[in-house]
Parts: sequence; structure tokens; C-alpha cells
Amino acid sequence: MQDYDIDFHIHSKYSKGVSKSMELPVIAKQAELKGLELVGTGDALCVPWMGHIKKSLVEGVDGAYSIEGSKTQFLITAEVEDERRVHHLILFPSITAAEDMTERLRKQSNDIHKEGRPHVKINGEQLVDHAREVDALVGPAHAFTPWTAIYKEYNSLKECYGTNTHYVKFLELGLSADTGMADRIEELQNITFLSNSDTHSPWPHRLGREFNRIQIEQPSFKEIEKALDRKNRRKFSLNAGLDPREGKYHLTACSKCFIRFKLEDAVRLRWRCPECRGMIKKGVADRINELASWDTPHHPEHRPRYMHIIPLAEVLALASGSRNATGKKIKAEWDRLIEKFGTEINILVDADVEEIKKENAEVGRIIDKFRADKIKYVAGGGGQYGHPTLKDETDNFYGRGQKTLTDY
Ligand SMILES: [Zn+2]
Ligand SMILES: [Zn+2]
Repeated sequence: MQDYDIDFHIHSKYSKGVSKSMELPVIAKQAELKGLELVGTGDALCVPWMGHIKKSLVEGVDGAYSIEGSKTQFLITAEVEDERRVHHLILFPSITAAEDMTERLRKQSNDIHKEGRPHVKINGEQLVDHAREVDALVGPAHAFTPWTAIYKEYNSLKECYGTNTHYVKFLELGLSADTGMADRIEELQNITFLSNSDTHSPWPHRLGREFNRIQIEQPSFKEIEKALDRKNRRKFSLNAGLDPREGKYHLTACSKCFIRFKLEDAVRLRWRCPECRGMIKKGVADRINELASWDTPHHPEHRPRYMHIIPLAEVLALASGSRNATGKKIKAEWDRLIEKFGTEINILVDADVEEIKKENAEVGRIIDKFRADKIKYVAGGGGQYGHPTLKDETDNFYGRGQKTLTDY
């Protein structure tokens, strides 16, 4: 059995707001630098993207594809938006399966011929019916976010997937939630959690900013399915991702001016911001409080560790006292460290901190700190990302007595 690092959920250049660089050869190259062995193609239901997939990839072992000359392997994946504006992630056993599913959904969709993440006029239960016909797997994408996720629309998996609920093996946590939060919800105890980037750009501070480590014999659809089922010693051994406070919907906040609100204030104000009249969006932290069966997480025995990581470019920005992770100097130091340690994931998760400190003391110190879960964050909300900080910053809460970082 071997460890593989995988990011199941990305988007192609055919989805809205996605970088034109999102093409498979670029993604494959960047995944190697990041240290991802496997990446979802994303958008496999989208007809022009499937054209690009078929032109670029050759099939290896059972459902795993690659570009000639590249180590990165691809799994066929897609996201759809259902009739209630709930997003679902789909894992396909092959290109043929994804193409069959596109044909099945064609009558229920007006934009599947051009849109990376197509809208389909069916519900979650019907979607699973279609997926089962082609042996694909379905689960909620970024399950707790306030615009397009299962728990903004429903209070349980059952309400969404109906009689097909027991076919749902996985749930994607999304950037604004982690295992500590989701394991307060009783109905999720038996579900395998995915931590994926949902990235719109191929660069390594986005691609694999959340990823899964799985123990399987070899990269293939069947092996991954076994890991999701935790069968024959196949399993997920690590979820890694941003601290949920970095997610842009972590706290309840105004979607226009981003002032944070306590849930009771938002309710009292009828979800209208008194400062700018913008709409207040319920944060993932408050939504999970509503759904929770327990005040503290109950981790089932099978649940792997969730490690909070910070992309290396952001670690370098932090180390230089800036919030801009895209400067030339940062890129040069990023290149130098990757040259030394092989991949970004090796530096963030696995490499000996003392070895990192020898190369860059401040970077080593920050990595040591986040591996021990001791970094402070200013939490995101209302669509604005949160960020790690080494300074004494606080969240901008509405009303008297601003909260400090330790209050939430
Ligand atoms: Zn989505
Ligand atoms: Zn506002």
C-alpha cells in the first residue's frame, strides 16, 4: 500500500471566473511541483472541456489518465448545480462514463454544451440515479457554504438525496470548514470527508491548497472507491487544508462591506447590513452550530487527522511581512525551496523542520507553528477570504466591543 496525494475538485477554463491557463498540460506540470500525484480533471460533463481531455490524456490503469511524459495522473471528475442551486461533486470511472452521463443530462440542461459547471433541472436524488447508471459516485460539494451548498438548502443529507442517501459515500468540507466542525454533526459520522481546492487557477498557492492523502495499491478508480468505503485496508490517511477561518464564508458577515455579525444580530437586523444595506450572509461556523448534535467534535475511529496548512507562497509572504503572495522575490525563493525539497507538499507536511530552517529560518518557524496548530487568523466572511497573521489583528465585528481573535 502506498500514499497518494490527490485534489479531486478543480475547474477548467470553461467555468465562470476561471483562469485561461486552466488546461491539462499546465495543471499537470504545476501538480508535480505541488506534489500531487492525482488531480481531478474537473468539468468532465462540459462538452468542449471533454474534447480537451480526450485530446490530452491517455488511459493508464482503470480510470486513471495521464499526459505522456508527465507523472501527474488524472481522475475524471465534474461538478453540477442542481435545480435547487445545490452543487454536487461527481467522480467517474472513465471518460466513457462521463460522456454517457452528459448524454443523459442533455435534456435537463441548457448549458452543458458550453458551461464548465452545468446547471441541471433535477434534484439530488435524481442526480444519484443518473450517476449510478454509469457507476459514478456523487457527494455534496463545499457542503456548508451559504450560496450553493446542500446545507444552505436542506437540514440533512436525506432531504436532498432521499432514497439514494446511502449511496452517498463522501462529502466535500470546503474551504470554510474542517473535520473539527463537521464531526459535530451526527449524520456525517460514517461519511468520508474530502478536502479539495475547488481551484480556478493552476498555480500552487491555489491548486492543492486543500488535498487528501489516501492509502491505496495504485491510482485507479476502483482503489479510490475502496478508500472511500474504507475497504481492504484502503483509506484516507490525511485531510489537509486551510484553517476554516481562511474561508470566505466562515463568519456571518455583510456580503458588500464585510462587517462581521453575531448570528442573533443578523437575525434581529433581518439579514440587512445597517452600515451599507448589503445582504448579510450566514457564516459556515453559525450554520454548523445550527446543525450540530454536539458542542465538541466526536471523531469516529476511521476519521483521519485534519492538518491546517498555509500555501508556501503565503508562508513566504508572511515571513516577509507582506500579504502579497505573488511578488518576484517570493517566486524566486519558492523556486529555490522547491529545487531543494522536491515539492511544496513535502515542505508543508513532511520535511524535517530543522532542515527547512537551515534553508530559511523564518519559513521553518512558520511551518513549525502551523504544524502545531498555533497560527493566528483573521477570519473570512461575506465572501472575503480570511488570512493568517503574525500581528495583533482582530475581526471587524458589528456593534460595540469588537471581538478579539480568541473570542470565536
Ligand atoms: Zn461549487
Ligand atoms: Zn454592509
